[in-house]
Amino acid sequence: DGRAEIISNAIRVIPDWPKAGIQFQDVTTIMLDPVAFKHCIDLLVERYREQKVDVIAGFEARGLIFGAPLALALGVAFVPLRKPGKLPGETVHADYITEYSTDRIEMHTNAVQAGQRVVLVDDLIATGGTLRAGMELISKVGGEVVEAACVIELPELKGREKLDGLPLFVLVEKE
Ligand code: IMP
Repeated sequence: DGRAEIISNAIRVIPDWPKAGIQFQDVTTIMLDPVAFKHCIDLLVERYREQKVDVIAGFEARGLIFGAPLALALGVAFVPLRKPGKLPGETVHADYITEYSTDRIEMHTNAVQAGQRVVLVDDLIATGGTLRAGMELISKVGGEVVEAACVIELPELKGREKLDGLPLFVLVEKE
């Protein structure tokens, strides 16, 4: 219905950032355009409003920007998955390798209850390592990851194949 194209056109590409050879998909330009930003949240809300979802879990940093308004619109909990040392309470963690770094994500131990249905949200899936770490983290506390959602997929990197069959919902694909 044209919304995906509006979103796609609002994404800026920064060549060779954060290092040579990476074509960085910059979603900050989506947020400069309230129409494109609203289309992102609306498409996600339309995807999940008829499903039984208890928790939206968003990855620091850009997954927080899309995840929190989605959770608010759905009327469900929002849980931040954060970089090490940022959360004040007791945490669980998972390690992962991204397109350009090695990292760890942490979550408050009691933020997700056993049996809760969780949707993971991030801005972009590249190799799939981040989403895999999110799956591991949620399963450590007994939650059920029912789907992952990203604004952008880089299909050439085949990250989808790393998700052990978890459904992945994306708004736009980029090369
Ligand atoms: P993956 O773990 O290899 O799938 O990489 C995805 C993670 O790296 C996400 O958290 C993204 O925010 C980040 N990332 C990798 N490449 C890009 C990019 O081109 N634009 C924005 N974020 C990116």
